[in-house]
Amino acid sequence: MSTNTVYIGLGSNLSNPVEQLNTAMKSIALMPFTQLIKRSSFYSSKPLGPQDQPDFINAVCEIETELEAEDLLKRLQTIELEQGRIKKRHWGERLIDLDILLFGNNLINSKDLVVPHSQIALRDFVLIPLSEIAPGLVIPNKGKVENLISTLTDSYLMPLG
Ligand code: ADP
Ligand code: MG
Repeated sequence: MSTNTVYIGLGSNLSNPVEQLNTAMKSIALMPFTQLIKRSSFYSSKPLGPQDQPDFINAVCEIETELEAEDLLKRLQTIELEQGRIKKRHWGERLIDLDILLFGNNLINSKDLVVPHSQIALRDFVLIPLSEIAPGLVIPNKGKVENLISTLTDSYLMPLG
């Protein structure tokens, strides 16, 4: 079995988002064949879609895992469901959203899973916490995280606390 370094993006804007992120990180740390290596600070961001919803809290974490990518995705979706995820509308409010940002240097393009995450290069709430815990990280086919940050036009990301 091979071990991969994987980055997961977390987001929540309902029911005490900080607690939702902490709960999800604990569940991630308890997954089999997996170690939680690093967690970023928490940041608040403006919602991408409808604006009549609360701000999001976002963070990323780094894990090392022997799980296959599809297996990891299923387990993250189970955590989302356990935390009572409700999806009301596209890019709308949610209790917890867990995205696989990077899976080692793998390029995955299946029906259920696109890695690197399709929006990774465009999202300040992903890039800035990634550069916090993994400075100099290279995103396959897209380049260094810091170079991607410098191409963002505007950012409304605020460190929490
Ligand atoms: P978003 O995260 O884009 O706001 P959702 O979380 O509702 O939207 O999207 C869930 C769907 O995205 C799932 O059905 C899953 O199969 C698919 N998906 C594709 N690539 C990824 C990825 N890298 N991480 C998580 N889900 C992904
Ligand atoms: Mg998602």
